[in-house]
Amino acid sequence: MLALNCLRQWAAEAGFDDCGAAQAVRLDTDAAYLQRWLQAGCNGSMQYMADNVEKRVNPQALVPDCKTVVVCVMSYYKQCSQPEGAPRIAMSGLSQNDYHDVMKRHLLMLERRITDETGLSAFSQEHQHLFCDSAPILERRWAQRAGLGWIGRNRQLIHPRLGSYVHIGILLMQATLADYSEPYVAEGCADCDRCVRQCPTGALRSDPFDARKCVSYLTIERKEPLEEQYLPAVRGVLYGCDICARACPYNTAPEQRDHEELAANPQLLGMTADDWSHTSRRQQIKLLHRLARRDNAGGEHGQDT
Ligand code: SF4
Ligand code: SF4
Repeated sequence: MLALNCLRQWAAEAGFDDCGAAQAVRLDTDAAYLQRWLQAGCNGSMQYMADNVEKRVNPQALVPDCKTVVVCVMSYYKQCSQPEGAPRIAMSGLSQNDYHDVMKRHLLMLERRITDETGLSAFSQEHQHLFCDSAPILERRWAQRAGLGWIGRNRQLIHPRLGSYVHIGILLMQATLADYSEPYVAEGCADCDRCVRQCPTGALRSDPFDARKCVSYLTIERKEPLEEQYLPAVRGVLYGCDICARACPYNTAPEQRDHEELAANPQLLGMTADDWSHTSRRQQIKLLHRLARRDNAGGEHGQDT
């Protein structure tokens, strides 16, 4: 039977910055929160959040006989800044490769290693079982249950050493491990509320979290014209929002992990306000996706519950 420390070692050798594992169970408490969130309409036009609710809270509804949720994280933190006045792009959007592809490539490496070393038939042949922001699964909750950090007041996973600039990858296994990670129970936010105070739209003040007010949602997900009240918050923003991430003390000096695949795209980073000014917003978004090689990106974006 595969031991957790062995899995973690292989995950590190597959390029991940940290890894943990939790037993696959239905997330009853999160299911109740999700229902409350949906009933309040906080998902806005993210209809996919209302679809497949049972799959979202129960890994066995995604992969029958799922026993183990393996969670891997990879930092995309980069010290870089766009030229003054250029339309702002969140740090994840500045990477030179599509993070979905990068994470899936490394998850596949880990899956192959597990299969080769253990000889176990631990992965479904019929069901998709490898995800990064591409399936109905509560990735941040699983990361917390796998001992990788806590869900902060900014609704992001906060890894105690890597901060919140991490991508989360999931592997669903149909085999049990010899041992599992302890869930992360420490409340790292303590009495801090910097992200709540700095959020420009008050999205973090509501309970449940109101994604409709979040700039990430407004600039990535939302297709309809915006109401007047949100225009000041999205002015000068092209893609996503890092304000609550930048506010977080755990992101002040995160451990540096320079993943070349997720380094900033130099062409994107070099574009000045003047370079962007000759194109419409639609063209800007197209250019961003092309430069970040996101032509095939699918799945679920933005902040959810
Ligand atoms: S991403 Fe921006 S708008 Fe959304 S919660 Fe964070 S600070 Fe607020
Ligand atoms: S800024 Fe403070 S309250 Fe917000 S997520 Fe970070 S530690 Fe938690």
